[in-house]
Amino acid sequence: MFLVGLSGGIASGKSTVVSILRELGCAVIDADVIAKQVVQLGTPAYSQIVCHFGDEVLLKSGELDREKLGAIIFSSPEKRSLLNSITHPSIHRAMLRQTIWYFCLGYRYVILDIPLLFESRNLTRYMKHTVLVYCDPQTQVERLIRRSGLSREEVLKRLAAQLPIDSKLPLADHVIDNSGDRESTRRQVLQLHARLESSLGYLPARIAAVTVAVGLVTLMWGLLRRLC
Ligand code: ADP
Repeated sequence: MFLVGLSGGIASGKSTVVSILRELGCAVIDADVIAKQVVQLGTPAYSQIVCHFGDEVLLKSGELDREKLGAIIFSSPEKRSLLNSITHPSIHRAMLRQTIWYFCLGYRYVILDIPLLFESRNLTRYMKHTVLVYCDPQTQVERLIRRSGLSREEVLKRLAAQLPIDSKLPLADHVIDNSGDRESTRRQVLQLHARLESSLGYLPARIAAVTVAVGLVTLMWGLLRRLC
């Protein structure tokens, strides 16, 4: 099995591409969903966040006030790295668990949907392939205005806080250009899927797993024969 990292920019069409991949039966791990799960009330990461950031980052229900926390880390790089140091180990562990699960189910590759994949270079080295869901910046602005209902000014401010999507182009192994209509995007996703499915990149991990399993069975068999 091998890992495929998928990313994009805000409103570039990542969710659209992921839903096509899921339709095709691909195994997709959503880092955003995991990031929410690991800070749910009662989790170790939740307790650490409350310990370091105080009760003011909590809603009345006791859950984290994500907007307040977001505002705090947006204005303080130290607090952002503190929060990352609390949440990232739990996120990575959960992603690893899900990856192993898909491996056991026999999937040839797993897609890791990671919003800031190209910003955090230490993650890309685990990926056999990286995919950028691209959309030209003008279309990106129009789609974000339509989706969010925010003003053009507000949308431009949000986009300015991210790495420009054009700068991610040279970092990706594959680009799905979602600037056109949905049919064109679908065609590109089908092509990518066919390419990944036909790749033999899954073989080394599969052979290693089979070798370990055969070794273990042989060892157990030898032990049993000695005992009997
Ligand atoms: P992301 O997950 O990257 O934020 P989405 O997949 O949610 O982006 O797409 C952003 C918005 O643009 C959504 O409202 C979606 O319906 C719309 N959209 C996505 N792809 C296309 C397309 N090819 N043509 C027209 N609208 C699109």
